[in-house]
Amino acid sequence: MVRLITHNMLACHVKNCTKDNFPLVFSEVELVIRESEANYDFLRRFMPKLDWPALVDTARSLGDETLPDDQPEEWTDEQLQALHHVLMEMHVEEGNMTCRGCGHVYPISNGIPNMLLAEHEVGR
Ligand SMILES: [Zn+2]
Repeated sequence: MVRLITHNMLACHVKNCTKDNFPLVFSEVELVIRESEANYDFLRRFMPKLDWPALVDTARSLGDETLPDDQPEEWTDEQLQALHHVLMEMHVEEGNMTCRGCGHVYPISNGIPNMLLAEHEVGR
């Protein structure tokens, strides 16, 4: 499965694609929600690594409007739960991730993202 915590780390890696190569844009998504136990300590440690605007945009593109525009400085339990839901419980099982820079499409099938490139797209 592709969770948003993974998606938030993924940039296009096509050769010479360095502009608008993050975040990849989801389309034709089949979304599955799998509830899991929230680990707030983990979330707090992970927060500095997040690209917040990318996370908020991506969550909204998948229909989840729970995250605020700006990352809170003081988190309520309700906000932590919302973050947990977006990062850990939303699973993209099928769909595409498209690079806004070069247009490369990374398909997701049966929960597995295909990050492989054609020979001419590989950097040396
Ligand atoms: Zn690209």
